[in-house]
Amino acid sequence: MVSSAKPVHPIWCPGCGDFGVLAAVKKATLDLKVTPSDFVLVGGIGCSGSIHNFFDVNGIHALHGRLLAQAVGIKLANPALTVVAAGGDGDGYAIGMGHFIHAFKKNASILYIVLNNETYGLTKGQASPTSQIGFEGNIEPPFHAILTALSIPAPNFIARTFSGDPKTMTAVLAEAIRFNRDGRGFAFVEDLSPCVTYNDTYKLWREKVVDVATLPGYDPTDRKTMFRLCLEQIEAGRIPVGVMHRPTDSARNGLEAKLLGDQPGPAAADIRLETQRPAYEKLLAGLS
Ligand code: SF4
Repeated sequence: MVSSAKPVHPIWCPGCGDFGVLAAVKKATLDLKVTPSDFVLVGGIGCSGSIHNFFDVNGIHALHGRLLAQAVGIKLANPALTVVAAGGDGDGYAIGMGHFIHAFKKNASILYIVLNNETYGLTKGQASPTSQIGFEGNIEPPFHAILTALSIPAPNFIARTFSGDPKTMTAVLAEAIRFNRDGRGFAFVEDLSPCVTYNDTYKLWREKVVDVATLPGYDPTDRKTMFRLCLEQIEAGRIPVGVMHRPTDSARNGLEAKLLGDQPGPAAADIRLETQRPAYEKLLAGLS
């Protein structure tokens, strides 16, 4: 449902990592001078999915696991909009997994932020697709979205941040939105956003995060190198963060540019009768 209501104070638990993401999105979009009327924030289902209620911009609370379909649709309807989708790991990597994979190859110029807390916080702390073995009886290994993202050969921007480092997060989100604005395609940022109530990982993650830019051989333009570096860190029990993929290709590779070229998109098209009459008449003539 499209919301035009004024923002309300966040309902998150004090200390929730989602506050960091909200602040970083606000700061990045303010720095980039994104006007509220040209900004759409699409929220998923889960604690983090209410983020659009706390920000004075256009907002949609999407169906569970379907926020990317709606975000891509918005971008195609009006490519001039800045479109950011934000949801949790349960929303994006369980019920939303099909849309997640396809978003990389569709490559619409939107930003998708997954606020990963390795649990279903809204429903009181069950194991999610990213939960560690042993958490709440979980016996499955965690899903690593960064490795999946790096395995899809599309010109996407890929990064991971940590709510314990809001300054870096803000810079990464700003780069991702600039990437979208230039029409270069899909930007994916997974933020490590601890759930302080059901899975408080702040201390553990602070000890384990490793900025990939500090690793020997770091090259975010080389997908194979970044996959290897990230996998090595994961296998060593560490958590790689930072920019994982930054394409060298600066072309307008976004889906909206490929489909619409320089056309404004149906939501912004001139649909006045006098403008459209020649096209209608041509259509009718073809039917006679
Ligand atoms: Fe945040 Fe967890 Fe509270 Fe949800 S339950 S608001 S994820 S701390």
